[in-house]
Amino acid sequence: MNNNLVVIENQKLQQEITTQPRSTKRPRDYQQISLYKDVNPLDWEDWRWQIKHRIRTKEELEQVIKLTPEEEQGIKKASGRLSMAITPYWATLIDPEDPNCPLRRQAVPVAFEFAVGPHEMIDPCAEDRDSPVPHLVHRYPDRVLLLATEHCAMYCRHCTRRRLVGEHEEGSSSSRFDAAIEYLKANRKIRDVLISGGDPLLLEDEEIESLIQKVRSVSHIEFLRIGTRVPVTLPQRVTENLVTMLKKYSPIWMSVHFNHPKEITKRSKNACDMLTDAGIPLGSQTVLLKGINDRPYIMRRLMQELLKIRVRPYYIYQCDPVRGTQHFRTPVAVGINIMEKLRGHTSGYAVPTYVIDGPGGGGKIPIGPNYILSQAKGKYVLRNYKGKIYTYLE
Ligand SMILES: *Cc1c(COP(=O)(O)O)cnc(C)c1O
Ligand code: SF4
Repeated sequence: MNNNLVVIENQKLQQEITTQPRSTKRPRDYQQISLYKDVNPLDWEDWRWQIKHRIRTKEELEQVIKLTPEEEQGIKKASGRLSMAITPYWATLIDPEDPNCPLRRQAVPVAFEFAVGPHEMIDPCAEDRDSPVPHLVHRYPDRVLLLATEHCAMYCRHCTRRRLVGEHEEGSSSSRFDAAIEYLKANRKIRDVLISGGDPLLLEDEEIESLIQKVRSVSHIEFLRIGTRVPVTLPQRVTENLVTMLKKYSPIWMSVHFNHPKEITKRSKNACDMLTDAGIPLGSQTVLLKGINDRPYIMRRLMQELLKIRVRPYYIYQCDPVRGTQHFRTPVAVGINIMEKLRGHTSGYAVPTYVIDGPGGGGKIPIGPNYILSQAKGKYVLRNYKGKIYTYLE
């Protein structure tokens, strides 16, 4: 971008930030929703109750929000893999009147999901190809992804692993990870295991503990992390018992998945606090989603609000070209522009890395604004966040 343009853009950004009103609408208390008005508060706080009472049908959802024709069609078609499942907790955060509510769009299927856009694939990151044994994806030299379950608390409509996740019978025998553990033992270069899914925190505490113990028993594994969305979609799952168990296996890091400032509630903050207080550092992986968080001021607020609850923004993902997600995908320029408006304009801790997962199995590739204007022997010409030019001599 021409430097004058950068300056003008920044002036526009300042205006945008100061003139954008924050939504004053508060999420509803569950007692305000007829479907939940008689629910016992102890049940409401019980994650198993939340799972059991997830909204799975049009009839239930209609009692919480007013459906659009696109949503009615979407719900009818979304059966099997990535069927609709919305935790009552999440449902209370949805704006019942606004079809563009960011939480609603992440949870309620629409007819667009059943259209296949150009370049879209079933498994865009070629995870199945890079899977040497069941439940394991080995792409990078020193780390692996271990897919612990195919269930999640809520099914996100933009999910990259929609080919895998959803409600169905799943083998729960404790031997199902044996081949994966053997593979870890045999590959001494692997030092980092990312337990993900699906959502591993949907397993029972004992199953999670047993899996952690197995991974920890491999002597060359030095870094363990868990990828989960429950602090956002089902914060009730973060119980004292779970946290006490995880604490025993410190150090464990955790990647959570926040996409919009409205997802940061007292309840999700409380879940994050419990994890952080137990010594588990939290990072957020955010997916750039059209109409949800594709405005610089929204993304900036999300990143700043995350810091306030001690979650470090880790990645912003370009929405993968997975089948049925075209209505969520923005041009790459939108993401680059967002990064332009984060770096320098706010705390460095609030600036994650924007990545594209290289289609076909390239792994995460960082992209962002270009700050090097020219490069010659011993001389770099750089621009800063305001578009001013500086020369660095080597
Ligand atoms: C994202 C990912 C990882 C972890 O990557 P980091 O950049 O270390 O967070 C590992 N394996 C696979 C297959 C992944 O997609
Ligand atoms: S929680 Fe993660 S794996 Fe599960 S549906 Fe959402 S994006 Fe997909």
